[in-house]
Amino acid sequence: MTENTKPALLFATHNRNKAAEIANMTERYTLLTLDDAGVTADIPETATDLRGNALIKARFLYSLTGKACFADDTGLEVDALGGAPGVMTARYAGPECDPNRNMDKLLAALEGQPVRTARFRTVIAFIDADGSETVFEGVCEGTIATERRGEEGFGYDPIFQPMDFGGRTFAQMTMGEKNEISHRGKAVRALAKFLNEKR
Ligand code: IMP
Repeated sequence: MTENTKPALLFATHNRNKAAEIANMTERYTLLTLDDAGVTADIPETATDLRGNALIKARFLYSLTGKACFADDTGLEVDALGGAPGVMTARYAGPECDPNRNMDKLLAALEGQPVRTARFRTVIAFIDADGSETVFEGVCEGTIATERRGEEGFGYDPIFQPMDFGGRTFAQMTMGEKNEISHRGKAVRALAKFLNEKR
Protein backbone atom coordinates (compact mmCIF):
# COMPACT_ATOMS: atom_id res chain seq x y z
CA MET A 1 0.00 0.00 0.00
CA THR A 2 1.48 3.39 -0.90
CA GLU A 3 1.35 6.44 1.34
CA ASN A 4 -1.46 7.93 -0.81
CA THR A 5 -3.82 4.97 -0.60
CA LYS A 6 -3.59 4.60 3.17
CA PRO A 7 -6.69 5.81 5.02
CA ALA A 8 -6.28 8.97 7.09
CA LEU A 9 -6.25 8.72 10.87
CA LEU A 10 -6.64 12.06 12.67
CA PHE A 11 -5.10 12.62 16.10
CA ALA A 12 -6.58 15.42 18.22
CA THR A 13 -3.23 16.96 19.15
CA HIS A 14 -0.90 19.77 18.12
CA ASN A 15 2.01 17.84 19.61
CA ARG A 16 4.19 16.45 16.78
CA ASN A 17 6.34 14.41 19.14
CA LYS A 18 3.33 12.53 20.45
CA ALA A 19 2.13 12.00 16.87
CA ALA A 20 5.52 10.76 15.65
CA GLU A 21 5.64 8.20 18.45
CA ILE A 22 2.22 6.87 17.47
CA ALA A 23 2.78 7.05 13.68
CA ASN A 24 5.50 4.40 14.04
CA MET A 25 2.95 1.98 15.42
CA THR A 26 0.04 2.64 13.06
CA GLU A 27 1.66 2.08 9.70
CA ARG A 28 -1.53 1.08 7.89
CA TYR A 29 -2.75 4.67 8.28
CA THR A 30 -1.52 8.14 7.38
CA LEU A 31 -1.52 9.84 10.77
CA LEU A 32 -2.51 13.51 10.70
CA THR A 33 -2.36 16.02 13.55
CA LEU A 34 -4.86 18.87 13.94
CA ASP A 35 -2.42 21.15 12.14
CA ASP A 36 -2.03 18.67 9.25
CA ALA A 37 -5.84 18.47 8.97
CA GLY A 38 -6.23 22.27 9.12
CA VAL A 39 -8.36 22.12 12.28
CA THR A 40 -7.81 25.36 14.20
CA ALA A 41 -10.83 25.26 16.52
CA ASP A 42 -10.18 25.10 20.26
CA ILE A 43 -11.47 21.74 21.38
CA PRO A 44 -13.31 21.95 24.71
CA GLU A 45 -12.18 19.77 27.64
CA THR A 46 -15.14 20.19 29.93
CA ALA A 47 -15.78 16.66 31.21
CA THR A 48 -15.22 15.58 34.80
CA ASP A 49 -13.10 12.56 33.93
CA LEU A 50 -10.38 11.53 31.48
CA ARG A 51 -12.63 9.23 29.49
CA GLY A 52 -15.20 12.01 29.08
CA ASN A 53 -12.58 14.47 27.86
CA ALA A 54 -11.03 12.00 25.41
CA LEU A 55 -14.51 11.27 24.02
CA ILE A 56 -15.43 14.97 23.76
CA LYS A 57 -12.27 15.67 21.77
CA ALA A 58 -12.64 12.64 19.48
CA ARG A 59 -16.35 13.32 18.85
CA PHE A 60 -15.61 16.96 18.09
CA LEU A 61 -13.01 15.98 15.53
CA TYR A 62 -15.23 13.28 14.02
CA SER A 63 -18.13 15.71 13.68
CA LEU A 64 -15.87 18.13 11.81
CA THR A 65 -14.25 15.63 9.46
CA GLY A 66 -16.20 12.35 9.35
CA LYS A 67 -12.83 10.56 9.30
CA ALA A 68 -11.33 7.94 11.63
CA CYS A 69 -9.82 9.82 14.56
CA PHE A 70 -8.70 9.55 18.15
CA ALA A 71 -7.96 11.74 21.15
CA ASP A 72 -6.09 11.11 24.39
CA ASP A 73 -6.25 12.49 27.89
CA THR A 74 -3.86 11.79 30.76
CA GLY A 75 -4.11 12.36 34.49
CA LEU A 76 -2.09 11.72 37.64
CA GLU A 77 -4.16 10.19 40.45
CA VAL A 78 -2.74 10.51 43.96
CA ASP A 79 -4.40 8.24 46.53
CA ALA A 80 -3.77 10.48 49.56
CA LEU A 81 -5.51 13.31 47.67
CA GLY A 82 -8.59 11.26 46.77
CA GLY A 83 -7.44 10.85 43.15
CA ALA A 84 -6.46 14.50 42.56
CA PRO A 85 -5.17 16.16 40.47
CA GLY A 86 -6.79 13.67 38.02
CA VAL A 87 -8.56 15.50 35.25
CA MET A 88 -6.90 18.76 36.46
CA THR A 89 -3.33 17.40 36.14
CA ALA A 90 -2.16 19.85 33.46
CA ARG A 91 -3.64 22.87 35.29
CA TYR A 92 -3.15 21.74 38.90
CA ALA A 93 -1.41 24.95 40.07
CA GLY A 94 -4.09 27.21 38.56
CA PRO A 95 -4.01 29.83 35.80
CA GLU A 96 -0.26 30.50 36.19
CA CYS A 97 0.58 26.81 36.19
CA ASP A 98 3.70 25.31 34.65
CA PRO A 99 5.37 21.96 35.35
CA ASN A 100 7.46 23.38 38.20
CA ARG A 101 4.53 25.06 39.94
CA ASN A 102 2.44 21.91 39.49
CA MET A 103 5.17 19.79 41.12
CA ASP A 104 5.67 22.31 43.93
CA LYS A 105 1.97 22.25 44.70
CA LEU A 106 1.86 18.45 44.72
CA LEU A 107 4.97 18.12 46.93
CA ALA A 108 3.47 20.65 49.36
CA ALA A 109 0.13 18.82 49.43
CA LEU A 110 1.96 15.59 50.35
CA GLU A 111 4.34 17.16 52.91
CA GLY A 112 4.73 14.67 55.79
CA GLN A 113 2.35 12.22 54.10
CA PRO A 114 3.61 8.61 54.35
CA VAL A 115 1.07 7.23 51.85
CA ARG A 116 2.44 8.39 48.49
CA THR A 117 0.97 5.88 46.05
CA ALA A 118 -0.24 7.28 42.73
CA ARG A 119 -0.79 6.33 39.12
CA PHE A 120 -0.71 7.91 35.71
CA ARG A 121 -3.68 7.01 33.55
CA THR A 122 -4.06 7.63 29.83
CA VAL A 123 -7.38 7.19 28.07
CA ILE A 124 -7.59 7.09 24.28
CA ALA A 125 -10.97 7.41 22.53
CA PHE A 126 -10.99 6.14 18.95
CA ILE A 127 -13.85 6.77 16.50
CA ASP A 128 -13.78 4.80 13.27
CA ALA A 129 -14.88 6.26 9.92
CA ASP A 130 -18.28 4.52 10.43
CA GLY A 131 -18.78 6.33 13.76
CA SER A 132 -18.13 3.34 16.06
CA GLU A 133 -16.31 4.23 19.27
CA THR A 134 -13.67 2.25 21.20
CA VAL A 135 -11.87 3.38 24.35
CA PHE A 136 -8.39 2.20 25.43
CA GLU A 137 -6.63 2.77 28.71
CA GLY A 138 -3.07 2.49 30.02
CA VAL A 139 -2.08 2.74 33.68
CA CYS A 140 1.33 3.08 35.33
CA GLU A 141 1.39 2.57 39.11
CA GLY A 142 4.01 4.29 41.26
CA THR A 143 4.70 6.67 44.12
CA ILE A 144 5.36 10.39 44.45
CA ALA A 145 8.95 11.14 45.52
CA THR A 146 9.69 13.66 48.27
CA GLU A 147 11.91 15.73 45.96
CA ARG A 148 12.74 16.10 42.27
CA ARG A 149 15.27 13.73 40.71
CA GLY A 150 16.42 13.44 37.07
CA GLU A 151 16.55 15.59 33.98
CA GLU A 152 14.67 13.61 31.31
CA GLY A 153 11.05 13.77 30.23
CA PHE A 154 8.46 16.41 31.00
CA GLY A 155 5.57 17.32 33.32
CA TYR A 156 5.69 15.47 36.63
CA ASP A 157 8.46 13.07 35.54
CA PRO A 158 11.02 14.26 38.16
CA ILE A 159 8.72 13.27 41.05
CA PHE A 160 7.00 10.13 39.71
CA GLN A 161 8.63 6.83 40.69
CA PRO A 162 7.12 3.93 38.73
CA MET A 163 6.64 0.73 40.73
CA ASP A 164 9.49 -1.81 40.73
CA PHE A 165 12.22 0.45 39.33
CA GLY A 166 14.22 0.84 42.52
CA GLY A 167 12.89 4.30 43.27
CA ARG A 168 14.12 5.84 40.00
CA THR A 169 11.85 8.57 38.70
CA PHE A 170 10.58 8.76 35.12
CA ALA A 171 13.04 11.65 34.70
CA GLN A 172 15.90 9.25 35.50
CA MET A 173 14.93 6.86 32.67
CA THR A 174 15.60 6.97 28.95
CA MET A 175 12.62 7.64 26.71
CA GLY A 176 12.74 3.99 25.57
CA GLU A 177 12.66 2.66 29.14
CA LYS A 178 9.80 4.97 30.02
CA ASN A 179 7.75 4.11 26.92
CA GLU A 180 7.87 0.40 27.74
CA ILE A 181 6.14 0.86 31.08
CA SER A 182 4.33 4.17 30.81
CA HIS A 183 0.58 4.80 30.85
CA ARG A 184 0.77 6.43 27.40
CA GLY A 185 2.93 3.63 25.96
CA LYS A 186 0.42 1.02 27.15
CA ALA A 187 -2.65 2.89 25.85
CA VAL A 188 -1.01 3.60 22.49
CA ARG A 189 0.05 -0.03 22.07
CA ALA A 190 -3.52 -1.14 22.80
CA LEU A 191 -4.83 1.26 20.11
CA ALA A 192 -2.13 0.17 17.64
CA LYS A 193 -2.91 -3.52 18.22
CA PHE A 194 -6.61 -2.86 17.62
CA LEU A 195 -5.92 -0.89 14.42
CA ASN A 196 -3.43 -3.41 13.08
CA GLU A 197 -5.78 -6.34 13.68
CA LYS A 198 -8.78 -4.57 12.12
CA ARG A 199 -9.73 -5.82 8.65
P1 IMP B 1 -2.05 15.29 28.39
O1 IMP B 1 -3.49 14.87 28.51
O2 IMP B 1 -1.20 14.29 27.65
O3 IMP B 1 -1.89 16.69 27.88
O4 IMP B 1 -1.45 15.28 29.87
C1 IMP B 1 -1.98 16.12 30.88
C2 IMP B 1 -0.89 16.53 31.84
O5 IMP B 1 -0.43 15.36 32.53
C3 IMP B 1 0.36 17.10 31.19
O6 IMP B 1 0.27 18.48 31.07
C4 IMP B 1 1.45 16.73 32.17
O7 IMP B 1 1.51 17.67 33.20
C5 IMP B 1 0.96 15.43 32.77
N1 IMP B 1 1.56 14.26 32.12
C6 IMP B 1 1.01 13.49 31.15
N2 IMP B 1 1.82 12.48 30.82
C7 IMP B 1 2.92 12.62 31.61
C8 IMP B 1 4.12 11.87 31.73
O8 IMP B 1 4.37 10.87 31.03
N3 IMP B 1 4.99 12.31 32.65
C9 IMP B 1 4.78 13.40 33.43
N4 IMP B 1 3.69 14.15 33.34
C10 IMP B 1 2.75 13.75 32.45
